[in-house]
Amino acid sequence: MLTIPKTMQAVVYRGANDLRVETVPVPRIGANELLVRVAVCGVCPTDIKKIQHGTVAPPRIFGHETSGTIVKLGVRARGFRVGDRVALHHHVPCMDCHACRHRAFAQCPQYKRTGITAGFEPAGGGYAEFVRVMSFCLPGVVKIPSKNSFIEGAMLEPVNTVLKGVNRLAVLPGDIVLVAGQGPIGLLFTKLLTLRGLRVIATDLLEPRLKLARHFGASHALRADAPDLPAQIHRITRGRGLDAAVIAVPVDAAVQQALTLVRGAGQVLLFAHTKRGAVAPVDLSSVCVDEKDLLGSYSADWTLQPAVARLVFSRRLDVRPLVTHTFPLAQAAAAIALAASPRPDSLKIVVVAPVAGLDERT
Ligand SMILES: [Zn+2]
Ligand SMILES: [Zn+2]
Repeated sequence: MLTIPKTMQAVVYRGANDLRVETVPVPRIGANELLVRVAVCGVCPTDIKKIQHGTVAPPRIFGHETSGTIVKLGVRARGFRVGDRVALHHHVPCMDCHACRHRAFAQCPQYKRTGITAGFEPAGGGYAEFVRVMSFCLPGVVKIPSKNSFIEGAMLEPVNTVLKGVNRLAVLPGDIVLVAGQGPIGLLFTKLLTLRGLRVIATDLLEPRLKLARHFGASHALRADAPDLPAQIHRITRGRGLDAAVIAVPVDAAVQQALTLVRGAGQVLLFAHTKRGAVAPVDLSSVCVDEKDLLGSYSADWTLQPAVARLVFSRRLDVRPLVTHTFPLAQAAAAIALAASPRPDSLKIVVVAPVAGLDERT
């Protein structure tokens, strides 16, 4: 039986590019809440942006792709047991408001609140030894089967965001979709689209990523900077054009190119353009006359979580090859630096808590 300490190690954001390993109190939990000992937390680009540009007020403890073990239950928390290995979800919609009735869950005011914290203004808390799961996030807690690892559990959140994006595409089996950018997210798109019976043209600048894209089912893996890329796509689609394009890299030119490469009434899905205030010219007649849709997808759809858990835990979508680097909690800053400036051989990077790995598989 684990005795819960009074204090813990956490990586605290103290300002732009200022992360410090500090000793902070272990969060207290309320009657309907859970305390989870963190095993693994994935490094996510949205957190990197906040940390590097200092866009939110410090102090905060980031990290929201979290899995771990329940070590304490509030007196009224039902459906869980101490010792359960779980994956967490830091945003859960109310299912009742105007946004939720339109299934725009990421626009729900409750969803925008972060319900998992290791202290300070709630920000996920995964870069700490323990997190408190608030009551409204309990419906997002998923048990990890014994055959699966904490790393697989921590990947549910990013996989969910990708499945939500895939569901926005009006495509038919056999259609041809471009996925621009083969980082962890782009590779997940490549695999999930392939599982839907679509043909995927993957592009990137890094050779190891193109190789992995083929392994993840891409029928073609091409250099994004090849001068003859439009001609190659013309050939592959027999002159018809792409049915859809997913832009998983924050490059404006990739959006403009994709708008010319999709067929009439095709779709271009933005997934990486998260920086506010960015303006880029678009030929609006491609939307009006050619009926091409320019759409976006952000964050997760909580209602997809059972399907996401099935995909990942059955290993129909095997996420394990995506995780290339693990860092101990004390080196979270180095983990974030590597994720922000990836090397040819680095993909998904995760932070592992010091206690994990002794008695449990990460
Ligand atoms: Zn994330
Ligand atoms: Zn709502």
